[in-house]
Amino acid sequence: MAHNLDSVCRSAMAHWGFPAQADILQEECGELIVALSHARRLRPESEKELLEEAVDVYIMVRQIMNELDQDKVQSMIQHKLGRTVDLIREERVRKGQPKPAILGN
Ligand SMILES: [Mg+2]
Repeated sequence: MAHNLDSVCRSAMAHWGFPAQADILQEECGELIVALSHARRLRPESEKELLEEAVDVYIMVRQIMNELDQDKVQSMIQHKLGRTVDLIREERVRKGQPKPAILGN
């Protein structure tokens, strides 16, 4: 049975509350940092560890983000994506590389 991400995230936040879930997010971020380090050193099982810890962080971030004003969340996501596109475009221009179609004009 597939679970609905936002439904479970909202239930978890309602059950444990923001302070506890914020603490868990901090712990999961630490575990992801370790997993990234292991992956960069190509340790055995690092891909599985990275997947698990990235998903842990994703789920906890989702819980926290669900508590925020969703219009502001979407606005900030667009702002950050736009900034990333600008950085890629500027770097490609600086390096004389062609611009991928996905970056638009
Ligand atoms: Mg974890």
